[in-house]
Amino acid sequence: MGLLSNNPSNERGPRKASTLLTRDQPMTANRGTTGEKLVLIVEDERDLAILLDYNLREAGYRTLLAHTGTEGLAKARAATPDLIILDLMLPEMSGTEVARHVRADKTLAAVPIVMLTAKADEVDQVVGLTVGADDYVTKPFSMKILMARVEAVFRRSQRSGRGSEQVLRLGGVSLDLETHEATVDGSPMAVTLTEFRLLTALIEADGRVLTRHALMRHAMGPGVTVTERTIDVHMTSIRRKMGPWGQHIKTVRGVGYRTVHELTPA
Ligand code: CA
Repeated sequence: MGLLSNNPSNERGPRKASTLLTRDQPMTANRGTTGEKLVLIVEDERDLAILLDYNLREAGYRTLLAHTGTEGLAKARAATPDLIILDLMLPEMSGTEVARHVRADKTLAAVPIVMLTAKADEVDQVVGLTVGADDYVTKPFSMKILMARVEAVFRRSQRSGRGSEQVLRLGGVSLDLETHEATVDGSPMAVTLTEFRLLTALIEADGRVLTRHALMRHAMGPGVTVTERTIDVHMTSIRRKMGPWGQHIKTVRGVGYRTVHELTPA
């Protein structure tokens, strides 16, 4: 349904406390809920899995461990985690496959995924286009970086309902900021959290050009840096999902992106 809430249950209806938090509120405002968040770690390198598990628990998260792709998917389906840390190279079923199954599962579709990749050149494949991961970390990584990414993903998923206008529209595409549902011509549009954030920022800018850095800030939150290429990959994915309405997002060469309401004939 393109639902972007990461409620562990299937609970629909209006969001509660987190909806009231605005972008300007300090990060610490969300700290109280950390202990309730469940993170699924899918990693076949046992030492790394244990290290991830230890650090996440230290930070107040609940954790679940899986060492193969099949086990990871089964645990995701059984427990509906709030976030999945997913290694790309896994026995039995690759991280890519697991992510595809997660995105195709109604209950799990909106669960943020942070991918662990071995090589930087796997990143394009991982981010957005084929898999729909919300973020990635390239191995080897420091625990500090990984934890910062996890926190950033949660921060993004909690930032909602900030304006009085609850439904944003661009052509036949609608974004409901309250329910986090995206639709294209009335049908559900399966977008990742990052894509939802990027599209929200673009539509809110209402024709103003947003630089790739500005988009990064809107979608990833402060302090998280991704390459400009990553933003382009996300944008390509968003346009594809928007179908013909994708033409209403224009690339401004050398600068960034903007929306247009009217299409000028070529
Ligand atoms: Ca591995």
